[in-house]
Amino acid sequence: MIHLAGRTTAWVLFFTLVLGGMVIAAQPTKIGVIVVDVQGDFTKLKNGSLAVDGTDEAYIKAVEENTKKLKEAGFPIYATQDWHPKNHVSFFTNHKGKKAFDVIKLGGKDQVLWPPHCVQNTSGAEILLDNKLFKAIVKKGWDPKYDSYSGFQDDGGKKTDMDKILKMEKINKVVVYGIATDYCVKATALDAVAAGYKVIMIKNLSRGVAPDTSQKAIEEMKAKGIVVFDDLELQKIKAN
Ligand SMILES: [Zn+2]
Repeated sequence: MIHLAGRTTAWVLFFTLVLGGMVIAAQPTKIGVIVVDVQGDFTKLKNGSLAVDGTDEAYIKAVEENTKKLKEAGFPIYATQDWHPKNHVSFFTNHKGKKAFDVIKLGGKDQVLWPPHCVQNTSGAEILLDNKLFKAIVKKGWDPKYDSYSGFQDDGGKKTDMDKILKMEKINKVVVYGIATDYCVKATALDAVAAGYKVIMIKNLSRGVAPDTSQKAIEEMKAKGIVVFDDLELQKIKAN
């Protein structure tokens, strides 16, 4: 009896895998785009409080033009927006005796202390691209207790609506770029992989806080199966 039950289980498992495989194979690829944190405070263009190197007018223009190209190609575009309350835990000003870029332990994890940035309803928090490009803007980092580099969840594990929105649209592959390569782009791309999406990252449409951590981030993303392209090419995005 046990033997029979085992065989039955094996057959059920077999058919589940075969049928499951067919369902997966039959599902068409649907691509979505996530533009990460292209906000005033992260840019030199706007003299931002946490301006990342290379975020000049030419960069923002390149991001906008390429994002338009993706939208015209029919891909839904989403943005993430860093959206902190004034008393946010990631601001060095909220920690006595600390200065910008100090690293503290927070819930067992390293937390970089940043200059105050992207404070809710300030001009520094505004997304610099035409907001009509976006099907949705996902705000993150609004809980004062937790930082949130990822567009999918904060450091306390609370999910944003990103995954829900993408799943609702039946998106299974995402193109990710923005600011910063070594923090929010990386975290968003890695969480997308973890949530089961195919992920493409565009290097030249992203900017990093520091060259060494950006290089490391690229390697980490590649190691997790993320396809990294230098530039945006529609054919390559559809094919890979
Ligand atoms: Zn932030």
